[in-house]
Amino acid sequence: MSLEQYKDVWAYCVREGDSLTRPSLEILAAARKVADKIGQKAVAVILGYGLDRVVENAIAHGADAVVYADEPWLEKYQCLPYTRVLCEMAEKMKPYAFLFVADELGRDLSPRVAYRLNTGLATDNIDLAVEDYYFGPTNTTYRNILAQIRPDFATRVAKIYTPRHRPQMASIRPGNFEPLRRDPSRRGELIRFRPTPVEEDFKVKILEEAIQRKSQIDLEGADIIISLGMGILRDGEGNPRNPREAFTLVSEILELIRRNYGLKGEIGATRALIYSELKELEGLITSERQVGQTGRTVAPQIYIAVGISGAVQHKVGMIKSKKIVAINSDRDAPIFELAHYAIKDDLYKVLPRLRSLLAGG
Ligand SMILES: Cc1cc2nc3c(=O)[nH]c(=O)nc-3n(C[C@H](O)[C@H](O)[C@H](O)COP(=O)(O)OP(=O)(O)OC[C@H]3O[C@@H](n4cnc5c(N)ncnc54)[C@H](O)[C@@H]3O)c2cc1C
Repeated sequence: MSLEQYKDVWAYCVREGDSLTRPSLEILAAARKVADKIGQKAVAVILGYGLDRVVENAIAHGADAVVYADEPWLEKYQCLPYTRVLCEMAEKMKPYAFLFVADELGRDLSPRVAYRLNTGLATDNIDLAVEDYYFGPTNTTYRNILAQIRPDFATRVAKIYTPRHRPQMASIRPGNFEPLRRDPSRRGELIRFRPTPVEEDFKVKILEEAIQRKSQIDLEGADIIISLGMGILRDGEGNPRNPREAFTLVSEILELIRRNYGLKGEIGATRALIYSELKELEGLITSERQVGQTGRTVAPQIYIAVGISGAVQHKVGMIKSKKIVAINSDRDAPIFELAHYAIKDDLYKVLPRLRSLLAGG
């Protein structure tokens, strides 16, 4: 079968009540974007039990079709039966691309599916595009290939292509696509798949379920985030400072902003600061506050980067913020390349001044 015969962009979507989880709606929007570029269908792929309303909602949120399996033995997620069913679906219907959310479940499922389908998997993407790809050694140009865009391991953003394999598989980090507005008048095709359970897939027994405590630190729900980086360890003259001082200043600034403007604020941090495990910041700067490639992706109204250099791994977690303010004493710090407002000065001068302005001083 030639590669051109692989059609449509699939998004593996996870049910939440009668609809889909927000990250699933995001990757459905990503599938829609790619499908529109290549003139094909965006397809939601859903496994579970009692899915009548769920599949309708997937259509309302932008899917042209839903491929689904609605079986009692698929009610709860289990990686082996889910992997088998998704592979059977893909082998039968031959999608051009297959997208997953880069979360715990997606990280468990997508590599298994990719391996069994004998294709590649680009993980943790922040965007997708469709491009022609030239492969020098065979002097071949592959048309309309999925460009999978993600931070590389150093300082840049990489594009990954898998031109000779199908489906082209990618996982996408939450927070990078806006879900499409629900439109109940949309119509689409429902394709029910009827898989047969295979006994050897049920080696794992679910004995108990526990609800995981949600993080108290609501970075995603904040209107304004002030993030702290390694710059808080020294002042502009290079003298060591107690980093607790910067944490307190920023807490007070956020409290004044809440009082003055009604904006909800949170404190974020770079991985470098979190990994430093400073005793002065024990219990205050924890991994739940990490913004970036291996942390959380945020898009607040205002993001203030304090003493942060602007490494690509940090940037990809905050670049979608509506307004970015950077405070850094190094005039050439990379963070200034994306800042809407650049304050090129010592944070230990700027933060007290900001606090006193907000306090009316
Ligand atoms: C695989 C991988 C994943 C990663 N994931 C993440 C991630 O999710 N999130 C993340 O943040 N990082 C991540 N990193 C780390 C990342 O590469 C950077 O090392 C990190 O973001 C740097 O943190 P920083 O900006 O706090 O520190 P630095 O790079 O040390 O920058 C400190 C900045 O403070 C400024 N400064 C110093 N003193 C002052 C002062 N008094 N006033 C004002 N400015 C001052 C300096 O000019 C400098 O620009 C990852 C790295 C790898 C390899």
